[in-house]
Amino acid sequence: MAEVIEIYDHRLRALVRPDASLQKLANGAVHSEGPVYFHEDDSIVWSDAHGNRLLRWSASDGVKVLRDPSDYQSGNYRDLEGRLVACSSGKRAIMRREHDGEWRVLVDRYQGKRLNSPNDLVVKGDGTIWFTDPPYGLTEPNQGYGGEQEQDGCFVYRFDPATGEIDAVVTDRMRPNGLTFSPDERLLYVSDTSAFNIPHGDHDIRVYEVVNGRHVTNSRVFAVIEPGQPDGIRVDEHGNIFTSSEDSVQVYSPDGIRLGKILVPEISANLTFGGPGRDRLFITAGKSLYAIDLNTRGVQ
Ligand code: MG
Repeated sequence: MAEVIEIYDHRLRALVRPDASLQKLANGAVHSEGPVYFHEDDSIVWSDAHGNRLLRWSASDGVKVLRDPSDYQSGNYRDLEGRLVACSSGKRAIMRREHDGEWRVLVDRYQGKRLNSPNDLVVKGDGTIWFTDPPYGLTEPNQGYGGEQEQDGCFVYRFDPATGEIDAVVTDRMRPNGLTFSPDERLLYVSDTSAFNIPHGDHDIRVYEVVNGRHVTNSRVFAVIEPGQPDGIRVDEHGNIFTSSEDSVQVYSPDGIRLGKILVPEISANLTFGGPGRDRLFITAGKSLYAIDLNTRGVQ
């Protein structure tokens, strides 16, 4: 365990296995992001975000290409019907793969202006899609098709696919990137990666109280993440926060104490819980996909 896990707080021991090992499942991507788990066939779908492809891994089939090009798809999730929903950095939209396999744009505008380049998303228990909208598809040559920013800022939006209603719910972040709800959905965590290319930018996670299931209030810093930036974040059944960083996936207790690290040999970007027991953490890092079995389950 010593090579894989760094423990700073005894509470981490209950979450990791004594014989924990990090498995490399796949490589060959340009830049791996946005893993999402399919329990039906024990597979992972993830984005080769800079390679402009959508990939799938399973133990029996290995790696397969699902979309090429993928319009710089980044974050992936599943809706209440199990359909794949995704952030398209290239199309500047939230997309959904319908039951017949066709990809459909769900939303690409707010107040009549184009979105920046949606990066990551979660589906709330009421079916609404909450997503971040940093400008990386406009500013970074290998993350989108470029273009002008039309929005006044980089927000977190709440989109209701049932009604088409879209609201900017978080407006105090420079470069909102990853997000997750607490298990009871009363808290929303949003990471900011503005330190990536803005001097004195943020590399932290803020937490917000969710009001009436549709607004947020009382923003405060939950944790400052070092080294690197917190890109993707996920929560386990106990409310512990798992965040990517430059050297590891870091684990924080609900009260914001860093419990320890799962060391990853490439820079981790995103993560998701999966496996038949939802106790396997899949990590997209650099060119690769990794997994580690834990003693805690995701709520996703
Ligand atoms: Mg991201």
